[in-house]
Amino acid sequence: MPDNNDPIDRTGLRKDYWKRFPLADLPLHEWEALCDGCGRCCLLKLEDEDTGEVAYTNIGCRLFDDATCRCGNYALRKQLVKGCVIVRPDTLEQIVEWMPRTCAYRLLSEGKPLPDWHPLISGDPDSVREAGISMQGKTVAEFDIDEDDWPNHVIKGML
Ligand code: SF4
Ligand code: SF4
Repeated sequence: MPDNNDPIDRTGLRKDYWKRFPLADLPLHEWEALCDGCGRCCLLKLEDEDTGEVAYTNIGCRLFDDATCRCGNYALRKQLVKGCVIVRPDTLEQIVEWMPRTCAYRLLSEGKPLPDWHPLISGDPDSVREAGISMQGKTVAEFDIDEDDWPNHVIKGML
């Protein structure tokens, strides 16, 4: 529970809370504020059946909106896309391995700091795009790509 004496900034977040409190103890709004909105976790991934190795593609999930870099139906995402994983403290352990290496949830769970371009550090949501991390305008739609062609859309450097 947040301490009532803890200073809160104008966005309702406690100062440097991600450095001071365990992820599992964060209230929902602070947990959600860790997401930089990069859209990387909404890209389709391919898993090698033999090695279990996961590769990211530049293909957005069917609900991903490339123009806004947001989920097209965040509230109903799990009902509409079976494979969508809700990132929460109780799911993080199972999924963290294949979350993008830049994702705040992954970084913090590995004991790493947030990068300078993260909005909680920069104070500017646009810094994610300026740093080249955002997938806005960089994806192709799932329905436009034949499944056989998915391997040709693999992108490196995400994990
Ligand atoms: S990869 Fe992490 S930071 Fe980026 S959109 Fe997904 S949950 Fe948010
Ligand atoms: S359903 Fe929405 S949140 Fe889930 S992967 Fe697709 S675009 Fe992302």
